[in-house]
Amino acid sequence: MTARTAETRELAAVIGLEVHVQLETETKIFCGCSTEPRDDEAPNTRTCPVCLGLPGALPVLNEAAVEAAIKVGKALGSSIPEETQFHRKNYYYPDLPKDFQITQYDAPVCDGGELAFSVGDDRRAVGIERAHLEEDPGSLTHAGGSIDTADRTLVDYNRAGTPLMEIVTAPEFRGAEEARAFLAKLTEVLEYLGVFDARRDGSLRVDANLSMVDADELGADGGVDDAVLADANRTEVKNISSHRAAEKALAYEETRQRNAIERGREIEQETRHWDEARGITVSMRSKEAEKDYRYFPEADLPPLRVADWKEEIDIPELPDARRERFREGYGLDGEAAAKLTSTKQVADFYERVAEAFDPDLAATWVADALLGELNYRDMSTADVEGRLEEFARLVELVDDGEITAKNAEETVLRRMLDDGLSPDEVVAAEDLGKTDDDEVAAAVAAAIDGRQRRPRNRQRAPAGGTGRLTPVIR
Ligand code: ADP
Ligand code: MG
Ligand code: ZN
Repeated sequence: MTARTAETRELAAVIGLEVHVQLETETKIFCGCSTEPRDDEAPNTRTCPVCLGLPGALPVLNEAAVEAAIKVGKALGSSIPEETQFHRKNYYYPDLPKDFQITQYDAPVCDGGELAFSVGDDRRAVGIERAHLEEDPGSLTHAGGSIDTADRTLVDYNRAGTPLMEIVTAPEFRGAEEARAFLAKLTEVLEYLGVFDARRDGSLRVDANLSMVDADELGADGGVDDAVLADANRTEVKNISSHRAAEKALAYEETRQRNAIERGREIEQETRHWDEARGITVSMRSKEAEKDYRYFPEADLPPLRVADWKEEIDIPELPDARRERFREGYGLDGEAAAKLTSTKQVADFYERVAEAFDPDLAATWVADALLGELNYRDMSTADVEGRLEEFARLVELVDDGEITAKNAEETVLRRMLDDGLSPDEVVAAEDLGKTDDDEVAAAVAAAIDGRQRRPRNRQRAPAGGTGRLTPVIR
């Protein structure tokens, strides 16, 4: 710390994230129990001697979890070692039946890497320190209050042993908004890889570390010296389970620390808990140090050679690359390309429609009409996966001038989604067959004409004058 007085110090926040994501595998990481909660399952029923930590039970590593981890490493540009190793992290907590967690220590499956993302108009890239595999503990329910007020706590080991990947970033975020944008991008990448389901309850949990440093300690590139970081007392906020909560918790924590420092108080190095209901962080305990955990190699799991294995594992095209290809290949503008690559499912769906028709027309109908209507109904493209031909038929009806674009969206598409009818069924039921309205017919004809004259891969017209067949009235 410098000798300057509290009032004259200009402060800057430094943030690093530890992101825990559940990997989508059928069975748990060290046993054959399912990872999929059954409807209304009773607590402590999706368990076995291994995930209950009973004496003598031995772990057997799930191949699928390692494959998923290698995919994540490839996507983040990590180096994947020849050999990786599991360790025991020893601590007592009721959600951990063995009193140690099988995790990784000095030979994680992914070392280093980086993830680029956008914040508003800025492009940022944050370093990944490591990403490793571990087992999820059980879950605790604090009955009749929150963690610091409940009078009793219930434990359920159904979740225990679900494969987790912990992704640790470098302390390179400069604010809560950046952290949120990073999490959104990370989620997108993980979903593209097919290793993660963001809709699953509790599938993402974040520990958010924040400290305040003197603003003039920030280098030109925004980096901060290791010695300064080591010196800065940081808090680690736990119990964050959404992107939004991460942003809120970090913003709260930044304000709290700033106020404390400005009043001349020291920041305690501690672990804090995000209280979602109250929107505040509360102190839990002084921060544990690494030596407290007595890490040692997990003798029941020999070192795992991944040298050859990693060569056999391929990853799909990732969102940024796909976005770029949609712009270049289909001539979409940035906004349409972003919308149409927001999930792999949407992108796949779009490409299938684009192949059947004109990419431009497909973009208009998928990005503007379909996604809007799905979103309104809390549905996703997964819900219409099997109806691609019907959707293509809808576009064809408009393209052929059989129905107006307005009717297509406001009547046909909506009834397709609400009543499960096919486009032709809706047209018949609603008597939408070719309209006599001269104005509409003329507009359709003119638009079709316009579209046919356009070369295929031209740049889409900017917003306002879109490349739409006819204006879709919303
Ligand atoms: P620990 O083992 O105590 O959790 P690590 O060194 O593994 O500590 O770092 C955990 C996280 O804390 C990382 O995401 C890292 O970026 C972040 N971090 C480290 N130093 C700071 C700091 N001064 N301010 C904010 N975050 C930090
Ligand atoms: Mg930590
Ligand atoms: Zn089990």
